[in-house]
Amino acid sequence: MASELQPPRGTHDLIGEDQRRHQHVIDTARQIAATYGFDEWATPIFEDTRVFSRTLGETSDVVTKEMYSFQDRGGDAITLRPEATAGICRALVTNGLTQSLPQKVFCAGPMFRYERPQKGRYRQFHQIDVELIGSAEPLGDAEVIACGWDILQALGVAGETVLEINTLGDKESRADYRAALVGYFSRHRSDLSEDSLARLERNPLRILDSKDEGDRRIVANAPTIAGFLTEPAAAFYARLRTHLDRFGVPYRENPRIVRGLDYYGHTAFEFVTTKLGAQGTVMGGGRYDGLVEEMGGPPTPAVGWAAGIERLAMLLAAPPPAPKPVAVVPVGEAAEATALDILQVLRRAGIRAEMAYRGNLRRRMERANRIGARAAVVIGDDDIAQGVAQVKNLATGEQEAVALAELAGRLR
Ligand code: ATP
Ligand code: MG
Repeated sequence: MASELQPPRGTHDLIGEDQRRHQHVIDTARQIAATYGFDEWATPIFEDTRVFSRTLGETSDVVTKEMYSFQDRGGDAITLRPEATAGICRALVTNGLTQSLPQKVFCAGPMFRYERPQKGRYRQFHQIDVELIGSAEPLGDAEVIACGWDILQALGVAGETVLEINTLGDKESRADYRAALVGYFSRHRSDLSEDSLARLERNPLRILDSKDEGDRRIVANAPTIAGFLTEPAAAFYARLRTHLDRFGVPYRENPRIVRGLDYYGHTAFEFVTTKLGAQGTVMGGGRYDGLVEEMGGPPTPAVGWAAGIERLAMLLAAPPPAPKPVAVVPVGEAAEATALDILQVLRRAGIRAEMAYRGNLRRRMERANRIGARAAVVIGDDDIAQGVAQVKNLATGEQEAVALAELAGRLR
């Protein structure tokens, strides 16, 4: 009897193996990011709409088509966060942290975009996110990328991904490049998609990122930024590559990587895979030196990335194994009190231990097998009298009497 209440389109429940995969990605990322000195922040999942509309760029897909925006009961314009960076920069400014730089931030949580749901693309999805705010050095970009690479390695998915890097240059390089792109795309105006025609005036770089097949054919022959880089911008990019080599992070240069959001300059990068069909980008980021200022703070250099947890979770070769508890099994009512003592001793020793809420010996043993218990601690009146419990290895069937005081040590 299925209920007529279904989850909203593009959302999913995380239960069992799905949740274990998901949590494994977060735990691994959190731990590796900590070794790089990133501290975890948690910012609200909804913000004043302007936090995103002002900063992500008025021609970005996210702002034009994907935001979950609404007016709350007090009449405030609210948006469910479509990404983490803008909220983190807002928090940096609100909390006066622009005076204590650099800040190295890790965060993980749900994001919301009104997209057409498909494999690897949802309306509520989750990201891990790393931001280094306050360093203008290419070493910062390299460190942030190396951290991402280490996370992919620790997850065992690095072999499935390729790092593609590009530079968007400084403002001057981009202005010259922009003019060249407008010239080129204007000559192909009649073949461009409607979206790209709109981008042509406001942000022609974004056309390079188009997913439209027709656009992509035109983009293939578009000029690249290499010929327009100022000397300092070229030097910045060269130093990034030297640092990546030093960190041992393999990469491929791809002049088409521009990233979807407006606030990027210099470094842009993506970790891509061929294993997830059209949703091939697992991690993407770059340098966004203008964002904190747009949020009302002082000019502040910054670089970071975000990765989709669902896409990473799908790439994990072996799902994290289901936990194997210890089942405590009292034989007869009188033994239940002692069994409860044992249960708590095991739990306080850090052992996952469970006792069925009712049932005879047979029922309780059946349940122990059903929950995948690795061992059963069976205890009856005779055992209590002798100060022992019977520990049964449920994989091998072997059983032995163990002194109550030694149980936790034996089962750990
Ligand atoms: P795409 O090109 O796939 O739309 P994007 O450029 O919009 O990605 P970002 O805004 O850079 O993505 O977000 C970083 C990462 O978050 C992506 O690389 C992807 O792994 C993940 N991601 C983005 N949108 C979704 C979504 N709707 N569902 C699941 N994961 C997503
Ligand atoms: Mg997108």
